[in-house]
Order: sequence, then C-alpha cells, then structure tokens
Amino acid sequence: MELFKVAGWDLKTDKVAFAKDKKKKNNNTKQKKKPKNRGSYANTIEITNRKQFGTKPKAKGEKIDGPDDATEAETVTTKETETPAETETKVGKNEQSKKRKQEVPETENSDKPVSKVAATDNSDTTIQPMKKRQLTPLQQKMMAKLTGSRFRWINEQFYTISSEDALGLVKKQPELFDEYHDGFRSQVQSWPENPVNVFVDQIKQRSQRPVNAPGGLPGLQDSKKIVIADMGCGEAQLALDVDTFFKDFNKTSRKWKRNYKVHSFDLKRVNKRITVADIRNVPLPDDSCTIVIFCLSLMGTNFLDFIKEAYRILAPGGELWIAEIKSRFGDGKGDEFVNALKLMGFFHKKTDDEIKCSQDSNSLNPHKIL
Ligand code: SAH
Repeated sequence: MELFKVAGWDLKTDKVAFAKDKKKKNNNTKQKKKPKNRGSYANTIEITNRKQFGTKPKAKGEKIDGPDDATEAETVTTKETETPAETETKVGKNEQSKKRKQEVPETENSDKPVSKVAATDNSDTTIQPMKKRQLTPLQQKMMAKLTGSRFRWINEQFYTISSEDALGLVKKQPELFDEYHDGFRSQVQSWPENPVNVFVDQIKQRSQRPVNAPGGLPGLQDSKKIVIADMGCGEAQLALDVDTFFKDFNKTSRKWKRNYKVHSFDLKRVNKRITVADIRNVPLPDDSCTIVIFCLSLMGTNFLDFIKEAYRILAPGGELWIAEIKSRFGDGKGDEFVNALKLMGFFHKKTDDEIKCSQDSNSLNPHKIL
C-alpha cells in the first residue's frame, strides 16, 4: 500500500512508533528489512513561526509581566537555509492525501492475537473492544501481551487512516481510545523520559526569563499572554502540569505574574481539560496561540494538515514544538522533515535528539541530528 509520504517522514507501517515485531503480509509495501532500532529516541523540534518577521516584541505597557529586555527574537538567527524544490513538491502532495479514502491495511489480521479479539468485518473500521474480566495470573500475563499487541495494532490504525476517519472511529467506538491510552500509558511508564515532561521542563525553565525576552517564553504581543495549544494531548497531562506550575509561580513570584492559557485537543474528552477536535481544524482563531505542541501526535495520513493548522493559529513569533519517535524519520535524522516545515513557513530553532523513550538498550538509536 502506497502511503502518503514526505521525504524524510516515513509513514510506512513498519516504521510507526512502537510498532515492533510485526510480520508483514502486505507485499505492496516495500519493506526490504525491518529496522532493529525502533521507537527509541524521541526528537523534539522547536520551530519559530515565520510570521515573526518585523514583529519585534515590545516591552511597553506590560502589566502582567515584569521588565522586558527583549531586543530581537533570538530564534530567527538559526538555520534558515535552503528551500529544496524536491521537498516542496512532496509537500504539495498533501492535497492528494486529503482525498484519500480510509484504508485498513491488509496487514491488520497478521497480528494473530489481535485478530482474535478484533472484529471480523473491518469494512467499516469497526474494532471490537477487549472485554475486562477476572483472570488468573497466567491469563493476566497473556492478557498483558495481548494488550501490547492490541495497542500496537490500534496505534497502527491511527497512523494509516486520515484524521477525519480517526475522529469518526473514536466517536463511534470511544472505548478504543481508552484501550489505546491504557497501552500508551504503560509504554510511557517504561520510558526513562517522557517527552511531555521535557516540554513542561522547557516551560518551567524559560519562565525564569521575561515573556518575549531572549530565552523567555513567547507571549502575545500586547497582553504577553502565553497561549499553548496541545494538539493530540492524550489525557492532557501537559495542561495539568503547566497549570500547577504557573499557579505556584504566580503565588510565589514577587516580581512577575504569568498570564497563560493551555488548550488541549484530542479525539476524546477523557477529562474536563480536553476539547474534542480533529487537530487539523481546531476551534481557535487565527494568530491566537504562542506555542503549539505536537507530542507524539502527528498521526494520520494527513499530518501535514496539522502543521498548516499550527501555522494558522500561531501568532507572529509563536513557536511550534514537536516530539516524535526518531524511527519515523525516513532519513533517520529528521532533516528533511525540518525542511518541509521550513517550506510551510517556519524557522528552525533547534532539534534535541537526546530524549530516551526506551529502556531497551538494543533499541537505542543514538543519532545526532543537528
Ligand atoms: N500528547 C500526548 C498523547 C500522545 S498519544 C502525550 O504525549 O502523552 C497521541 C495522541 O494523539 C492520542 O491521544 C490521539 O488520540 C491523538 N490524536 C491523533 N490524531 C489526532 C487528531 N487528528 N485529532 C486529535 N487528536 C489526535
């Protein structure tokens, strides 16, 4: 099956995050060899919105924040380079991907434990939930294995259908989301570092500097409000942690107060912090956010629509933060993905490829990116 592909951003189903030990039956997908090192390091990529040109942050009239020693946003200085036509044409393919029909990969039944619990008729992408019942220890062990396969399988579905179809699927079968997140949660627990925490730490660190100052967080130009959109937030842990942090910060800081808002979007509202939305089209006005985050959420064949949406909602000088599993990058490094982002109107600030998302030393994949 030929999937939508941007150079450097490989959506072949054997490369999806956490997809391990899959035996492919689909001969249409070119798979010369199964990569051994998968799902190991996540990259965080920080990108600055091109709209910032000529929009130097102003210190005057600041109420919420303290003195602002911002001069030029420091971010523009980094890595503005070539604009390869090759990438441009591939980005252009995005339109085709929108028209793609939902496709369930032929490989889906190749994962045997899953096929036992999965619906036999997937023609309308109906997937049967796993039943919870009393189990013996042995059954529990087997169930854990099954849950792992099940998680990987659902994960793969999300990567190989459009976001529209994913939203439809979760609306129709909300329990699927819960199953997915049970699996996701147990994966995250085994990681030495959760990328959500890396982002929260960034926010904490950069809060020590004035908003819109070099090294500080980006805020809206007049109010200096820090507006974060967490796209594909899962259980909205980021919103919770950021809220806790800023509340405490505002209580204890005598010098500055932070005006902030975190919007959390996902396919299901598992708690009140979350707004249900397909992240290709979120209910926020243009230029209304200062940080847009995709933390392991660039799922769906039309993921470039999500980036376009980020561009739309980001205010001038706003930043796009992305964490992705390294093995998703076709070039193994992410350079070409970054080039595609540049073509979509962003400046590259930095890539951090040192985030470890696996304790399995065999799967460590220590590429240095930029
Ligand atoms: N960002 C969270 C969750 C990552 S799992 C974290 O790092 O902990 C990926 C999440 O993206 C899932 O919750 C999934 O439902 C969500 N997602 C994928 N495609 C989406 C879409 N089109 N719209 C909204 N959420 C989406």
